[in-house]
Amino acid sequence: MSQLVIENVSKGFGTLKVLRDCSLSIAKGSVVTLLGPSGCGKTTLLRSIAGFLIPDAGRILVKGEDISHLPPNRRDVGYVFQNYALFPHLTIRENIGYGLKIRRKPKAFIRQKVEEALGLIAMTPFGDRYPKQLSGGQQQRVAIARSLVLEPEVLLLDEPFNALDAQLRLSMQIELRKLIDRVGITSIFVTHDQQEAMTLSDRIAIMRGGRIEQLGTPLEIYDHPQTPFVADFIGRANLIPVAIRSGRTDSPQPIHSAMPDGPGTLVVRPENLSIAEGPGPGWEGSVGFATALGATIEYEIDCGAGEPLRAVLPRRPGVAPLTPGSRVTARIRDEAAAILLSGSPRP
Ligand code: ATP
Repeated sequence: MSQLVIENVSKGFGTLKVLRDCSLSIAKGSVVTLLGPSGCGKTTLLRSIAGFLIPDAGRILVKGEDISHLPPNRRDVGYVFQNYALFPHLTIRENIGYGLKIRRKPKAFIRQKVEEALGLIAMTPFGDRYPKQLSGGQQQRVAIARSLVLEPEVLLLDEPFNALDAQLRLSMQIELRKLIDRVGITSIFVTHDQQEAMTLSDRIAIMRGGRIEQLGTPLEIYDHPQTPFVADFIGRANLIPVAIRSGRTDSPQPIHSAMPDGPGTLVVRPENLSIAEGPGPGWEGSVGFATALGATIEYEIDCGAGEPLRAVLPRRPGVAPLTPGSRVTARIRDEAAAILLSGSPRP
């Protein structure tokens, strides 16, 4: 049985439809990320699960029980806020124990749970400090421990790393994923950072305009995006408009297809393009821009019409990047790496 089931949930504010028929099932201990552009409804869905909002339609079930109409404090769902929301006048120990205290748990029990939680986040020496005496990353760990100590069935995290700098963010992501695995708690993250979603998630739900456009493991979504929007949102992609005629595309490098005749979009990841100097079979153009990034070189190739193609190639030490203006031909390395979707790139 799924630990958390979201069934056909819709929600609007006045005439604004924010969630449209969202459904999602999450197994115990697994981590799902809601990923999408600003305003697509991620936070609204998370708040509906927490009980801060009541959906207009649909149901939310935890361990098979419909919790849709329960108030937040009766849902057995933890919520970690973007800005930590720690109590400034309470010590770290008091912050972590606060939820147990208002639930009137025995003092000895609270003490034991707080010490366990402090150990779990490796912060035992900091237990008697106040939040302002901790770094942002440490405060975020305390905010997470404060939720975990209540042992909720589901943990919801709304952009928990937003306030952290890039390097700390990455190490916190890895640390938090390990912590979730140790505790085995079913979790839902909201983020608009695709790298973060790839690092943290068992599955990613890509949202757009209040709908879940695709749900899959990070690599399923990267390798098999079902729409140009998803292809562009996870990783980078060249979206090349093509026409499909009699089982192949009309592109300079034709790709075979079982799709009916009509407009199509060829999705090619930059690392799946190769570049040769001079003319040849493929996309002919000139180097518009080259950036050497240490391990790789990124090229932008102007092909006359449409958007430039982006290619990422491994850099060989001692070999200079091609200079802007060089005439080149780009090809897809392996036809298996080309993804062909029906319809135009940006309908
Ligand atoms: P972001 O990444 O910017 O946080 P999001 O995907 O989390 O975006 P939501 O916060 O769910 O998006 O908001 C979706 C839409 O609903 C937005 O257009 C927002 O303005 C609107 N909205 C959210 N809450 C309310 C509310 N309480 N009343 C009216 N409109 C709201």
